[in-house]
Amino acid sequence: MRIQVLGVGFDNYTMEQAVAEGVRLMGTEGAHYAVTPNPEIVETCREDPEAAEAVNGADLVLPDGIGIIYGAKLLGTPLKGRVTGIAFAQALMEQMARGNRKLFLLGAKPGVAEQAAENLRREHPGLRIAGTHDGYFQEDGPVVEEIRNSGADVVFVCLGAPKQEKWMRRNGEATGAHLLVGLGGCLDVFSGQVKRAPVVFQKLGLEWFHRLITHPTRIGRMMKLPVFLVHVLEEKGKQP
Ligand code: UDP
Repeated sequence: MRIQVLGVGFDNYTMEQAVAEGVRLMGTEGAHYAVTPNPEIVETCREDPEAAEAVNGADLVLPDGIGIIYGAKLLGTPLKGRVTGIAFAQALMEQMARGNRKLFLLGAKPGVAEQAAENLRREHPGLRIAGTHDGYFQEDGPVVEEIRNSGADVVFVCLGAPKQEKWMRRNGEATGAHLLVGLGGCLDVFSGQVKRAPVVFQKLGLEWFHRLITHPTRIGRMMKLPVFLVHVLEEKGKQP
């Protein structure tokens, strides 16, 4: 049973359990997809039913933000812990390298996915990258075809939320891959274009704060965080 946080159901897994489930899905017939919502995405789902359907329709829903962990706790249904998209992706790539699985990188500005592929091949010896494509295309068809022809088992879909969730729901099956994972800005990080927050910020769950001070233009988007907390408190107020 998933743990509900304001209309989004989260799988209650540790990182190890989440990776084991990811590995199982990538070896299972048919297409599956994983999402890693943070409070901003939960708020988006409250306003956009198609986004909510795409997020809740995923085979794996992992809590990316520390805000989700606080929210679930406040609502009296705590989650085991945070499973960030980026750490999940790294652990999955380790398993892919061992299992000889092929990965396709989709998203970000032209050139970024190629650079990420080069870095990831170095960081995960044995990892097979089936292909890459930037995230600024007009039609899904040719991109889906390219993924299909690449024979990829897994696709990292990095188009930003909720575009990537809707994209995976719409096109997952046609790509021929067994697992698609929505990972937002991860390719920017893997390519080295964007640095991850220093470890101390990561450990304290303050990556969002580091992002804010290094990219102040994100303040508009981040205002969804306090709104999320207010909604959690309202929800708590309704509980008996
Ligand atoms: N992006 C894309 N196609 C689009 C819009 C965005 O490929 O049409 C990419 C963008 O270049 C960036 C990522 O999607 O690499 C979104 O990054 P952001 O940090 O905004 O995502 P978050 O992780 O916060 O969801």
